[in-house]
Amino acid sequence: MLIKAAGQQVFLFSEPGSMTALNRDLVAHNNAVETVQAVMPKSVHSRIIVIGAGPVGIRFADELLSRRPEEHVHLFGDETCLPYNRIQLSALLAGEIDRDAIDLPLPDNAQHQNFRFTSSAITAIDRDSNTVTDATGNQYRYDKLIFATGARAHIPNIPGIERQGVFSFRSLRDTESLYARILRSRHIVVVGGGLLGLEAAKGLLKFHTRVTVIQQGPHLMNRQLDEDAASLLEQEVKRLGIDIITHAGVRAIDGYEHVTSVTTRNGDIISCDTVLFCAGITPNIDLARKARLTVGTGIVVNDYLQTSDPDIYAIGECCEHQGTTYGLVNPGFEQASVAASVLADSDQQPLPRYQGSAAVSNLKVVGTRVCSLGEINELAARPFQKETRYQSPDTGEYRKLVTLKGKIVGAVGIGDWPESRRIQECLSEQPQTQPLAALSIPPQRKTVGR
Ligand SMILES: Cc1cc2nc3c(=O)[nH]c(=O)nc-3n(C[C@H](O)[C@H](O)[C@H](O)COP(=O)(O)OP(=O)(O)OC[C@H]3O[C@@H](n4cnc5c(N)ncnc54)[C@H](O)[C@@H]3O)c2cc1C
Repeated sequence: MLIKAAGQQVFLFSEPGSMTALNRDLVAHNNAVETVQAVMPKSVHSRIIVIGAGPVGIRFADELLSRRPEEHVHLFGDETCLPYNRIQLSALLAGEIDRDAIDLPLPDNAQHQNFRFTSSAITAIDRDSNTVTDATGNQYRYDKLIFATGARAHIPNIPGIERQGVFSFRSLRDTESLYARILRSRHIVVVGGGLLGLEAAKGLLKFHTRVTVIQQGPHLMNRQLDEDAASLLEQEVKRLGIDIITHAGVRAIDGYEHVTSVTTRNGDIISCDTVLFCAGITPNIDLARKARLTVGTGIVVNDYLQTSDPDIYAIGECCEHQGTTYGLVNPGFEQASVAASVLADSDQQPLPRYQGSAAVSNLKVVGTRVCSLGEINELAARPFQKETRYQSPDTGEYRKLVTLKGKIVGAVGIGDWPESRRIQECLSEQPQTQPLAALSIPPQRKTVGR
């Protein structure tokens, strides 16, 4: 299906597996890149290889090259298209923006002659010889290697998961497949009532398809919102025409070849022809595990973003720092900045350290401004905390500020909240671990985000 023309190239929304004009162009581009790589002269610069051309890998390359413009940086991406901004996929799905609006620009070769981009997956790492091998069998030496491999959609292992009509929503390819599907769908069940599930549900509504969101937790966005805020958001979502079912995980996907219904954990059967999983993410750590790096939920890093091998770093959704993996882009950008600074000038004293990112979501969800700062849910049950609330029955605005011994430790809001940025600044002024330490919350593995 022809959707739009991007510059001189025709971009084709296609079924998975087919090669678009853009992809063909990319292959030609990469053949040129390989030729350059083969003749690249030896230099005094170290060779830095970045695995993963998502927003965080590209931000790292930008930050490093802004500090050391001549550095040899080689970025690898495994998707069959030029890098794009994943965050914008919901808007693309809803037809609110064009494909070229989500392009992520690569560092400019005119300014950085030693920057290279290759569209090929890295399939192996040999830490003894400091080399990586890509999917075409080419080997590349590195002095420093950066994992920015991100995450993939979490698909639960439940009966019927292989049936036709089951989709995930993580990549441009997923979006193309979903787009091709929704035009003939009558009822889509979205599994997951977090940010991603709600955004996808809103996008899908545009196609006059019935949309039902099934949320396993007690309320929508249960990681970011308290019950009252979630109930206001739920009213907004329902007003758009989206059905919501909470306290209900999916136990099975029914049908013969195609999906005909889903069965929830409490035994309800919901007829549908399409199921979209937006139920969390799984960090891409298989390659790191194969290379015998220390992994947990993500690739384990120290405050310099170094893995268990000092020549290898990990940033973004694939990494785990002090037991925490993040499902939002800003923590990845903060990590990219620290890693670039550490690598650009390893003699600086003291070296910059990454000390964790504040749990901050200041987002527009289905058109409603939603703000969640700090550890809203974990703090809710703590003694000595004080909650200050404001709710307007007229505008539907809701604001809650949680303080502990005079310090702001969390805030949640629905609707515009002009002071939210100031609250965020107050929160981040404190060392990241302080509120939790002060509350004697034991260290545990957490995923912050969607
Ligand atoms: C629809 C949608 C909406 C979102 N909205 C928001 C939002 O509003 N706010 C927010 O903060 N976050 C949002 N997110 C999350 C955000 O997109 C992620 O936090 C961000 O993309 C993480 O960046 P990353 O570079 O770490 O990982 P990724 O974006 O996952 O990029 C990693 C890249 O590495 C590639 N890769 C993996 N393995 C290899 C390999 N072996 N060789 C080569 N390449 C490899 C992957 O294919 C991928 O292209 C959204 C996500 C989605 C899907």
